[in-house]
Amino acid sequence: MKIAKRILVTGGAGFLGSNLCERLLKENHEVLCVDNFFTGARSNIATLMSNPGFELLNHDICIPLNAEVDEIYNLACPASPIHYQQTPVQTAKTNVTGAINMLDLAKLLHAKILQASTSEVYGNPAVHPQTESYWGHVNPIGIRACYDEGKRCAETFFFDYYRQHRFPIKVVRIFNTYGPRMSLNDGRVIATFIVQALNGEPITIFGDGNQTRSFCYVDDLIDALIRVMDTDDAFTGPVNIGNPHEITIANLAQLIKELVGSKSAIEFRPLPDDDPRQRSPDIALANSQIGWRPVTDLHEGLLLTISYFDKMLANNR
Ligand code: NAD
Ligand code: UDP
Repeated sequence: MKIAKRILVTGGAGFLGSNLCERLLKENHEVLCVDNFFTGARSNIATLMSNPGFELLNHDICIPLNAEVDEIYNLACPASPIHYQQTPVQTAKTNVTGAINMLDLAKLLHAKILQASTSEVYGNPAVHPQTESYWGHVNPIGIRACYDEGKRCAETFFFDYYRQHRFPIKVVRIFNTYGPRMSLNDGRVIATFIVQALNGEPITIFGDGNQTRSFCYVDDLIDALIRVMDTDDAFTGPVNIGNPHEITIANLAQLIKELVGSKSAIEFRPLPDDDPRQRSPDIALANSQIGWRPVTDLHEGLLLTISYFDKMLANNR
């Protein structure tokens, strides 16, 4: 049986954070959710608020934090390009200063800390699929750099704190993840296409639609995060977590249109700067270290997500 712990989740009111808080509470842990509500929503954690094991702190992780916890999941950071590019300086600070503050707390407590890093550390990758040994291809001064370079710098701090102070760290490189609790105006491709298809609005493909991504359903991702946290102290990562099933954005648009039964037109818009051409995780390391592979296929995960957005839109009408 697992021992109940007190666990800090930064970004706990966001898409992944709220799903993680819910899962940790189900496993009988106490959860301290820290969020500044930049992209998070109170509605994401509404059902958790009455749980006596759940505590919410409205706090920006760029400011140092004192708390008594056994483990830290550092998820705070806007993840959608439209959101992280809205206030890029704040994004870079959240990634770097925020990570330093959480590392200082982990060091003080000798607590285990997991960093939600990203496939964006590989940039527009020249190696495909991406393995953890690939150092990436990132534009350091482009519009995505506040996020990509911020996350890369956070990884550097994680490993330097580890080398210097020897408390347990885990670095997880998360690939595109989707599912319930993404917001209606999230801006990321699956949320956007589903909302457009349900509303009968044009589905907006950026570029020619031949760029690829590989999408992981949220429950699979959360399962992997907890398994990585539970590895012994010798395992630091970085480890890729994602679903290797790769699809073009044009095919994704078509699939969502069909699953929704929508008559939406398809419209092509300019491709944003530095948009990666292809992305797919090599998950051999995750498979060998934590015995994990995703179990929800894209079709099934999209149906669950469509049903979620359908209810959200109905509530908003
Ligand atoms: P999200 O935008 O839904 O959630 C981020 C949360 O962090 C929000 O609740 C936001 O209010 C909060 N936040 C932002 N800045 C903060 C600050 N300075 N202090 C406190 N809280 C702050 O994004 P998400 O999809 O849930 O992503 C969570 C984490 O996972 C992020 O670190 C992201 O980089 C990483 N990640 C996500 C994906 C994905 O596909 N979802 C892929 C790669 C990495
Ligand atoms: N995209 C798109 N239409 C949209 C939103 C995104 O064609 O309305 C494309 C985007 O250009 C990218 C892919 O979908 O090639 C994934 O975008 P997202 O923002 O979800 O994630 P990221 O680019 O960070 O992987």
